[in-house]
Amino acid sequence: NNRVLLASRPEGEPTAENFRIETAAVPEPADGEVLLRTVYLSLDPYMRGRMSAAKSYAAPVEVGAVMEGGTVAEVVESRSPDLEPGDLVLSHLGWQEYGVQPARHVRRLDPARAPISTAVGALGMPGFTAYAGLLQIGRPQPGETVVVAAATGPVGSMVGQIAKVKGARAVGIAGGPQKVAFLQELGFDVALDHRSPTFREDLKAAVPDGIDVYFENVGGHVWDAVLPRLNTYARVPVCGLIAHYNATEAPEGPNRVPQLMQAILTKSLTVRGFIQNEFVKEHYRGFQEEVSAWIREGRVAYKEDVVKGLENAPEAFFGLLRGENFGKLLVQVGPD
Ligand code: NDP
Repeated sequence: NNRVLLASRPEGEPTAENFRIETAAVPEPADGEVLLRTVYLSLDPYMRGRMSAAKSYAAPVEVGAVMEGGTVAEVVESRSPDLEPGDLVLSHLGWQEYGVQPARHVRRLDPARAPISTAVGALGMPGFTAYAGLLQIGRPQPGETVVVAAATGPVGSMVGQIAKVKGARAVGIAGGPQKVAFLQELGFDVALDHRSPTFREDLKAAVPDGIDVYFENVGGHVWDAVLPRLNTYARVPVCGLIAHYNATEAPEGPNRVPQLMQAILTKSLTVRGFIQNEFVKEHYRGFQEEVSAWIREGRVAYKEDVVKGLENAPEAFFGLLRGENFGKLLVQVGPD
């Protein structure tokens, strides 16, 4: 049972020294539990937060413990009447090949309904984050302009495409020409490269009527360019701030909080942070039904970036924080 442990807490950008790969015994399931073998491990930006001891909305991974993570896994042995060997389940095994979980903590997947990898992507946590944050907080109206960055990722790509389904104009922001071309394929009205030296002017030209919804995934220089373009009554669901996840100190320069507060006041902005869990009870079922229908009808597409081998998980994760992934990042663990 190969597994990846958190070896130490990173200072700034995480490195290979922060992880340790080891081989352990395959655990035995107790009554009511199942032994699972990981097929796909999901790599997500929130894992950077779990590596750190800084106070957050969830407890950190302990040093010496297996890194946390969502998984699609196959039942190898079952001590529950609800599951049998060969069943595929959504689970939370973390960065390891085998693990046991109580059967009631996993959800059986139907491979005939959708590719199983989507359970941690378009039809899983990231897709739901986009759906809930955009529709419950952003509330785009027909004809309005919605802007989102990290727009080729599982959250951002879903945000832009749902905005289109709702009749809004979608402006996607991504890093590099390849990603920009893909946004055009997905049907975004405008696609911009945030690494371009003319990004600020490009954004201004792309939103002649201003911005009504800015779905915040990144922060940093993208937010700086967006803020002056927000319309009165604009909504800003604050979903993620990946540009700051490796920060070790406050940014240089003058304190700009007073200007930000002034913009919030004078433009009557709604800036509302959220963690997707809060919407699960009320909206998860509707999400699954609506988004799987949109995928079947070809109104929503998704892209996956699959890396093979658990031993490559740390490098792939570093790439995610640098924008090197192209689509939902997954590690295929073990044989096909
Ligand atoms: P992605 O697959 O989109 O990966 C992150 C992307 O962020 C990178 O590929 C890169 O894309 C972009 N990025 C990285 N650094 C910067 C930077 N400095 N400036 C601009 N863009 C940058 O990730 P997800 O779709 O899984 O997640 C998107 C966001 O949503 C994250 O911030 C994540 O933390 C957040 N999230 C929040 C949840 C919640 O409940 N609130 C739940 C799930 C995700 P590019 O090359 O295009 O720049």
